[in-house]
Amino acid sequence: MHIAVIKDAGPAEHRVAATPETVKGYVKSGHSVSVTKGAGQDANYSDADYKEAGAKIATSNATCVKSADIVFSITGGDAKLVAGLKKGAGITGLMNPTDNPKYAEACAKAGVTAFALEYIPRISRAQSMDVLSSQSNLAGYRAVVEGAGLYGRAMPMMMTAAGTVAPAKVFIMGVGVAGLQAIATARRLGAVTTATDVRPATKEQVASLGAKFIAVENEEFKAAETAGGYAKQMSPEYQKLQAELTASHVAKQDIVITTALIPGRPAPKLVSKDMLANMRPGSVLVDLAVERGGNVEGAKKGEIVTTKNGVQIVGHLNWPSRMASDASAMFAKNLKAFLPLITSEDGQYAPDWEDDIIKGCALTKDGEVIHERLLG
Ligand code: NAD
Repeated sequence: MHIAVIKDAGPAEHRVAATPETVKGYVKSGHSVSVTKGAGQDANYSDADYKEAGAKIATSNATCVKSADIVFSITGGDAKLVAGLKKGAGITGLMNPTDNPKYAEACAKAGVTAFALEYIPRISRAQSMDVLSSQSNLAGYRAVVEGAGLYGRAMPMMMTAAGTVAPAKVFIMGVGVAGLQAIATARRLGAVTTATDVRPATKEQVASLGAKFIAVENEEFKAAETAGGYAKQMSPEYQKLQAELTASHVAKQDIVITTALIPGRPAPKLVSKDMLANMRPGSVLVDLAVERGGNVEGAKKGEIVTTKNGVQIVGHLNWPSRMASDASAMFAKNLKAFLPLITSEDGQYAPDWEDDIIKGCALTKDGEVIHERLLG
């Protein structure tokens, strides 16, 4: 099989979908690999390293993908790239399919199979391929580190001859993969850490990381987790109770990290302008949900907003890309784990259409859009 690794574009995209290490493994297994010139540059993987690993360096994405059986990318590229693939080839990436339905249509038109990695079912067997988890984990870490960087005081308690520094108070709202890593990171830095979520399962997880759990634990809370393990959209009544509970808590925090998401819906608003107005000057909010509308009122995509009372709201996009080397290495390992599902025993490109993981993430097949989430 011929694997092409492209140079991804897009807002603040610095990641690459294969590293010299994974390329070496592909070549050792008998595959041929082409990598677009400069594909790994922003993630500190040089063309020379890919060449040494056995890849051919292509001068452009168009030449890189021309004879590929499968294209490895972070984002899936665009319609123009897909049109240059040979019929029957496949492409992988985080394709944001519902916000970008034209992309799947372009893949169908080109006879290309699009594997949307965000749709890989979150079953145990697919854990090693779970790009959402590998990238969210890094995002959660980075959010705390950048929040701490902007906060003008220390994170841990310090008792010195010149006086005592109180530990920072950090509140994590939303305890999925990113939130759990954010809690662990804040604790490691010595902050007094609290967290909230609407899924009951998170209570024990928060406690196991040594943080305090805060939530409205009523009947609705007890039934807030879907069969798929995600949060339900909470009722306006619950949201009101939640806001009342968290308002006084938020006012006392130095750093608030918000990560709350509900699949297929805009992010829930958890921090209002009134809550922001009650925070102390110098406090920092990091809104990881900004790309889906934001958890914090007034958060702006790609910007750091400072409120009148001196509170900073961080709305950076593409957090994993801020740690491009590690994020690429993990993404590359996820794709390495995915590859056997699209490979025949004799090493040819042959997706296993009986496999639930392939069925779960394929947007297109034989010139048609097939994924249920994109059909009517
Ligand atoms: P996510 O990014 O969809 O959401 C982040 C968090 O926000 C979730 O914990 C959610 O409950 C929370 N949230 C939603 N609305 C909220 C509100 N109003 N207030 C407070 N919090 C709110 O979540 P994720 O990181 O993708 O993880 C979702 C689930 O999937 C978790 O249970 C996770 O453990 C599970 N998971 C399973 C596997 C696997 O088995 N392979 C892999 C990864 C994640």
